[in-house]
Amino acid sequence: MSTTRHELLHAFDLLLAPARFKDYGPNGLQVEGRTTVRKIVSGVTASRALIEAAIHAEADAIFVHHGLFWRGQDGRVTGWMRQRLCLLLGDDVNLFAYHLPLDAHPELGNNAQLGLQLGLAAHLGPAGRFGEQDLGFIGGRIDGSGFADAAALATHVQQVLGRHVTLVPGTRRPIQTVAWCTGGAQGYFEAAIAAGADAFITGEISEPQAHYARELGVAFLACGHHATERYGAPAVAAHVAAQLGLAHEFIDIDNPA
Ligand SMILES: [Zn+2]
Repeated sequence: MSTTRHELLHAFDLLLAPARFKDYGPNGLQVEGRTTVRKIVSGVTASRALIEAAIHAEADAIFVHHGLFWRGQDGRVTGWMRQRLCLLLGDDVNLFAYHLPLDAHPELGNNAQLGLQLGLAAHLGPAGRFGEQDLGFIGGRIDGSGFADAAALATHVQQVLGRHVTLVPGTRRPIQTVAWCTGGAQGYFEAAIAAGADAFITGEISEPQAHYARELGVAFLACGHHATERYGAPAVAAHVAAQLGLAHEFIDIDNPA
């Protein structure tokens, strides 16, 4: 089965509703390739390694969370940008990228899918969201139990993600209400505290959050930008591929960040 680039863009846009978000870069088709699409490769970031692997896997379209173009870039096609564009244009591969809309999708997005992996569910309705553009999720364990303390939560996350977690413990125990936002969402910590979280899970930590955790008693867990954001892209791409009868493959390019 195959579809067209245009139909594929329409399917992604319909699902992810990018017009609802103020974002740091263009969502949708970032680099135009061939018209006919039979296979999608999904990944976290449109790095050279992912593009090369996708071409090797005979992808007609690549679907990622982190595309090529961001606000604040100077617009020159040099260095890594030239290399990546050379590969995409040389092989006529389409690049689709969705940033915040992919974080936010209530079932298939990065936050929903990370929650699923960790056995966490957001509270129902607006009570289950917090922070700018309502991107953050807040809730608790699907089975209703909590975690004995922040260290128990960190051990659980470490086991699920297969990766070291940086924990700044708070003072609350047990941990009942957990807030999370994937990637570089350390700036959401104060909003998570205001929303009533006992612990906050994200990808990265910056210097101030360690102090906020100690001073306000809410645990902060930095679990990896890549590690927390590798579930949304394959979930969305698999969903759309099934809908349009296309082949799909997720290619994980490991990243220690
Ligand atoms: Zn990210």
